[in-house]
Parts: sequence; C-alpha cells; structure tokens
Amino acid sequence: MPADDVVTMEKIVSLCKRRGFVFQSSEIYGGISSSYDYGHYGVLLKNNVKAQWWRAMLQERDDVVALDSAIIQHPSTWMASGHLEGFTDPLVDCRACKLRFRADHLTVSACGRRPSKHPGETPECDLTEARDFNLMFETTVGPVKEEGSTVYLRPETAQGIFLNFRNYLQFSRKRPPFGIAQIGKSFRNEITPGNFIFRTREFEQMEMEFFVPPAEAGHWFEHWTAERREWYLRLGIRADHLRLRAHDADELSHYSSATSDLEYLFPIGWQELEGIANRGDFDLTQHSRHSGQKLEYVDTATGERYLPHVIEPAAGADRALLAFLVDAYDEDEIEGERRTVLRLHPLLAPVKVAILPLVRKDGQPEVAERIHAQLRERFQTELDASGAIGRRYRRQDEIGTPWAVTVDHQTLQDGSVTLRDRDSLAQDRLPIAALAEELDRRLRSPWRSPKGGG
Ligand code: ATP
Repeated sequence: MPADDVVTMEKIVSLCKRRGFVFQSSEIYGGISSSYDYGHYGVLLKNNVKAQWWRAMLQERDDVVALDSAIIQHPSTWMASGHLEGFTDPLVDCRACKLRFRADHLTVSACGRRPSKHPGETPECDLTEARDFNLMFETTVGPVKEEGSTVYLRPETAQGIFLNFRNYLQFSRKRPPFGIAQIGKSFRNEITPGNFIFRTREFEQMEMEFFVPPAEAGHWFEHWTAERREWYLRLGIRADHLRLRAHDADELSHYSSATSDLEYLFPIGWQELEGIANRGDFDLTQHSRHSGQKLEYVDTATGERYLPHVIEPAAGADRALLAFLVDAYDEDEIEGERRTVLRLHPLLAPVKVAILPLVRKDGQPEVAERIHAQLRERFQTELDASGAIGRRYRRQDEIGTPWAVTVDHQTLQDGSVTLRDRDSLAQDRLPIAALAEELDRRLRSPWRSPKGGG
C-alpha cells in the first residue's frame, strides 16, 4: 500500500460491521469460521456490482446471453470436468497444534504457537506429509444415503454453462463467437479461508464462457482481458492498484493453455481479483465424451463443423466488492473533525441520494418527504430527519452516498434545495424540479477516484 493510503483490512471489517454491510454469520452461536452474512447496505452494494457486470456483458453487447443453472448438477459433470480427480489442494496437518494448512501457503500462514511463526518453523511443529484434499462439498440427494445418491455443490458456475451449450445453439440464434454469462453461488471447502470475504467457502461468481472458432481464440483472449480490466477502471478502481499477471506454464490449470489474472493491491498485498483463461476445447470435449452427446457447432450454410474453443473471464462478486470497498475507503478532516468516507463510484454506491431536512419543524420534514417520494422512483434514496445535520452527513459519507439534498428555510421560500457532493463537499443550490435530471446527469458522467493514483 502507498504510505498515504489509510485503509487496512481491520478498518474495512469494522466499517462493514458498524454500518451493516457484512456480518460474521451465526454470530449469536459464536459465529462459524469464514461465513458471512450481507446486511442491508452490503446487499445493495453487491447488487450494484452484479448489475454493472450484467450491464457490461448483456446490455452493452449483442453476443452474450444469460443463464442461471442449478447448483446441484449431475455428478458425472464433475467426473468429466476433472474436478473429482484434480480439484484438490495439498493439505498438511500439524500433529502438535492440530491446525491444518495448505502446503503451498506455509510461508504466508501463521502456526498456532506464540509468538506466531510460520508452520514448520518451531522445533515443536510436527507437520504431516502433504496429501491431496478435494475442495468439493459432498452431499446426498433423496431420503436414503445409498450408492448413486452422492452429489456435489458446484465449485464453479462454469460447468452449468457447458452443460447447456447445446440448448443455447438451438434456441439463442447465436453462432460462435458468442458467450453465455452466469452469476451464482459456488462452494469450495477451502483449507485456509480467510481475510474477511476475500476467501470463503461459499461465495458468488460472475463467469462468462465465450465460444469461438478455434483460430480466433488468441484474439478473443486478448479482447476479454482488456475488456475486464477496463470494467474495473471504469468503476473507479485506481489504475496503479490493478495489474495483469500472466500465468507461467507450470501454474496453468489442467484445462488451460493461457491464463492471465487481474490482480488488485489489497491491504494484504497483490491478490487475484479475476482470472481470464483460454480453456481451449477441453470442456466441450470432456462433456461430449462422458455424455455421448455431440456438442459441436455445425454451420448449416457451409456444412463446417467444429468444437468451439472457450475464453473464460471468471470473477468473484464478493472479492470484487471487497476491492471496491478497499479502493474507496478514505479518511479526511472537515472543520477539524475526522471523517470516514467511502469514495465509491456513484453507480456502485448503495444509496445514491440522501434527503435531509435541516430541522424537524417549519414544514421542512414535509417538503423532504415530497422530494423523497419523487426521487425514489428513479434512485435508491434515504430520508433521514433525526439528529444533528453534521452527524447525518457523516453517516451518509460512511456508507458512500455520493449526494445529499438538504431542505432548509430558503426551500420553503423559493423551492430551492442544496445538493452536497460527498467528495468535493461542494453545495450547489438548485430548484427541486431540476433535482432528478441533475442527479441523473451526474450518475451517468465519467468518474475518477478523488483518492488519486492511476
Ligand atoms: P485462488 O487461487 O484465489 O484460490 P482460483 O484461481 O482457484 O482462486 P478461480 O477458480 O479462477 O479462482 O475462480 C474465479 C474467481 O472466483 C477468483 O478470481 C475469485 O474472484 C473468486 N473466488 C475463487 N475462490 C474464492 C473463494 N474461496 N472465496 C471468494 N472468492 C473466490
């Protein structure tokens, strides 16, 4: 982190709890490790992240269609995809402290002893050999646990897309190059989850499989890598906190011939935000083989038939949300008073505009209510009439509300209000009738983080 960036993971966790973005799950029972519940503002923020992803995938393009596939799929899916065999992490146990670690994460894990060391560094550490641990959650379908009833919670959303490829060829009137996009929950029994919502066992993915003629795979890999990078930048992520890292040959997954990770500079260092992979024809070949169904594309005009290659941008909704929060978190001083402010892109902000009567008398609350009723038709709004005005601004700053409309005595005289900007603190006076248009204009204007950098 640059020295002037005040954000830490502790501050994010504490703000999320204080303002109701994200809570530890099952808190009244002491919590369950690495499970989190999204509160009101967390839901609004995550919805906005997902809406912007859908917008970029569907609304702004003609070549991507949507899917919402089941979490529990035919178990053969995972045989064909290679997950049953190969979706494993190397696990080591410590016989002394009884903790478990990922063998490839030992140098960044903390052992159970104090003062904290890495596992294997103290004479008391007694680590087992690494063994493969499959990350898929297993469960059974039907009332009796019997042979053939074992199923898995999907560890990625991608496979649901491959299973539906043939359906899409038939009904979507698309031909390669085209993509199928999906957002949904995935489950991985991670050995070492942690860092708040960065790595959890239940999380949401935003994945798109783009099917292309084999000769075009290289071109589309470049295209999607650039598109996805742009998406984060457009939504305000500072360019000097985002980088692209190509995987070395020995890092590539079994299905991939090229992968680049978009990485973000979290307070815990550079970490993967999203992976863009060239999966070749691995998945369609495997599902063809295991299902006995032909999954090729046939061009009815030329008779040409081929198995498309696949380019996959795979992002995490929770991890993206965390990056947006970290990038937005800021502290400054107004008239000698410290404030915490989330400088979120207005399109991502949970609440777009707060309506605040200066005092709870003289007809101001009634006017505020009328403005609220008018604006909520177009924006996510909040009416807050109680407490000192300064405290109400602070509260909205902390949840990242970009604009606040203040009703004061002049409003009652000439029908004008002030519009306060979260970042510049500018207060513009304008007629109530012009508010909605002005907010709409601001919401659609290009935006850059006032935190600088980039
Ligand atoms: P990692 O190396 O961090 O385990 P991965 O390379 O296995 O991740 P992918 O399978 O490429 O991850 O998944 C795509 C995206 O899904 C990741 O970039 C990340 O944003 C998100 N993701 C993956 N695993 C988790 C998790 N356990 N918790 C939260 N998000 C996750």
